[in-house]
Amino acid sequence: MKSSLRLLISGIRRLTLDGGNVERNLKIENNENRIFWGDVTNVKEKLLINEQTKALSAEIIQSCRDLIQINQLYREAVHQILSQGVRVVDDAAFLADFGGALSSGFVWRSVSYKSKKELQLSRIQQDIGKKVEEKVRKAHEDHMLREQLKVIKKQLGMEKDDKETVIQKFRDAIKDKIIPEAVKTVIDNELGRLEFLEPAASEFQVARNYLDWLTVLPWGTETDDTLDQNTAQTILDEDHYGMNDVKDRILEFICTSQLRGSVQGKILCFHGPPGTGKTSIAKSIARSLGRKYYRFSVGGMSDVAEIKGHRRTYVGAMPGKLVQCLKKTESENPLILIDEIDKLGRGYQGDPSSALLELLDPEQNVGFLDHYLDVPIDLSKALFICTANDLSTISGPLRDRMEMIEVAGYITDEKVEIAKKYLIPKSHEETGITEKDISFSRDALVYLIDKHCRESGVRNLRKHIEKIFRKASRKVVNGEKVEVTIDNLKDFVGPAVFTKDRMYDDPPAGTVCGLAWTSMGGSALYVETAVVESSDGKGTLKVTGNIKDVMKESTSIAYTVAKNILAGTKHADFFKNNNLHLHFPEGATPKDGPSAGVTIVSALLSLATVPIQDVAMTGEISLNKKVLAVGGIKEKILAAKRAEIKKVFLPVDCLNEFNKLDDVIKEEIEIVFVKEYREIQDQLFAATDF
Ligand code: ADP
Repeated sequence: MKSSLRLLISGIRRLTLDGGNVERNLKIENNENRIFWGDVTNVKEKLLINEQTKALSAEIIQSCRDLIQINQLYREAVHQILSQGVRVVDDAAFLADFGGALSSGFVWRSVSYKSKKELQLSRIQQDIGKKVEEKVRKAHEDHMLREQLKVIKKQLGMEKDDKETVIQKFRDAIKDKIIPEAVKTVIDNELGRLEFLEPAASEFQVARNYLDWLTVLPWGTETDDTLDQNTAQTILDEDHYGMNDVKDRILEFICTSQLRGSVQGKILCFHGPPGTGKTSIAKSIARSLGRKYYRFSVGGMSDVAEIKGHRRTYVGAMPGKLVQCLKKTESENPLILIDEIDKLGRGYQGDPSSALLELLDPEQNVGFLDHYLDVPIDLSKALFICTANDLSTISGPLRDRMEMIEVAGYITDEKVEIAKKYLIPKSHEETGITEKDISFSRDALVYLIDKHCRESGVRNLRKHIEKIFRKASRKVVNGEKVEVTIDNLKDFVGPAVFTKDRMYDDPPAGTVCGLAWTSMGGSALYVETAVVESSDGKGTLKVTGNIKDVMKESTSIAYTVAKNILAGTKHADFFKNNNLHLHFPEGATPKDGPSAGVTIVSALLSLATVPIQDVAMTGEISLNKKVLAVGGIKEKILAAKRAEIKKVFLPVDCLNEFNKLDDVIKEEIEIVFVKEYREIQDQLFAATDF
């Protein structure tokens, strides 16, 4: 073969190319990766063919074949050689040249070794290529799928909006609102921040939530008040019987707003026993004024964050109830009912009552600051109504902020009216039992009220009426007509609960009926005294009955007063010679307050002299025997009437309060107003008693 072959010789010292005509014994520097050029001429002599060379040829052929298959480059080289018309496989010399050309060595073994190595290299290369290709393909496929998923999710409305849509949504939300300048600045700043944040970042979500709240509030949106007193009166009467104080106050509010030409917010507090309609009338007031209604209870609330919201730095931070209220009612002037303000908890996480102080202060609530929102909110247009059972547990400053309206309990007649006009019609509506199917006799209602539902409110009465309707429904379904009478009442509601009207029919000497006021209403509470039989009477007084400090003081004052009254009489030594025990029954109920003063004096005097019957009394006693005013007059008179007491002594200072009461309450009971204890003494004890 007359050609110049380019031989790549690497790392071989002695060039011994079998079958070639390259100058033999060519000295090569021991230097790797050197390239040598040389002219080669075909050698004519035949190469020795033996088993070894045959095997080597076969091996080289096999390697070359594999190599060609794998590598495109080699295939081209082979093609070139073969196109010269030489049968490489038949001649070992050619084969060596060929192998050498394909590989980078000369020597047969070396050729075999090199080609094998080359083969391996190519295989690895191919393998790596495949893997890389597979990886790229997978990444590409994933990307495609993800993009497709995004499109699908978006079409199904599952995909969260992208940043621009989110920002646009906020801008649209505030477009028509009259937003105060300070709030507008905050919103703009937050929107600006949103633009630079990655939607996947947690900060983006925080900012987005914040903007959600800021933009959803009803800035500058108010409902128009229905300032028509006739309409309001009709609506209020439609839902509730009596409650004239409350209704009058609302009508006044309407009239003043009408005269002023603007509507102001107000903070009212309805207080009285449970079940007297405090909560439910608030809803009617909202209806009568055409305001939106929102109610939340602060009973047991101990976390200030419920009112003022959490700071935004907390995970899962939320605004407080007031902001939630504005969001829900979508108006800046809703009626907000804050229930159970007297049962506010005092927690370790701030004091909710101080938050209420801020909220219920007309001076401050123009710029109410929620921790989460952190921008001032004007709540001065809202009408706040709070409800409470017991005013004594409301802190002074808070009480001061509110306009108090008492919602007292109901007497039997009122309850009968409420039952007839409101509770029974409501049950008709709810059960579908018509007036033709069921009827109540007045006596049955009175009996039901007096023997089953004696408490001041009507919640229990409502439950009993509902129970009667439920029981009656089975008969009505069978086509029977139900008449509720005293006789069959127990079939519906069981046996009477209050069989006895009072603890004593004829109290013994030393036991006198007092009138107490509790958050559940008034109650006739007896004061019992007894002489402790012992040989060594030392003139001591033991007091029991779960009483608190003020009542303890009151007991000690009354003891002194009683002693002084008896001094100089024939009973002068009674207190000196006897050990006495004074007890307030119903020991489970904690009692406090000074209003039992006159009752304790009377009980002690009675113990020394004669029994006192059919009389009840209430009033604080002073050391100089003056009778001072006490609260809860209506409840106390109602309690006395329920206990069928005929005569009640009241402090003269309570006269104004008494005059405000409905006539029906004043009927069938004698009220005696007293200024000094002497007046009670004169009526209860004859001059001969002392
Ligand atoms: P409170 O808030 O005073 O504890 P609610 O307002 O919950 O009592 O009243 C309890 C139930 O008694 C309600 O169903 C209410 O409609 C009814 N009710 C109370 N007072 C009256 C009333 N004067 N006229 C009609 N229903 C009344």
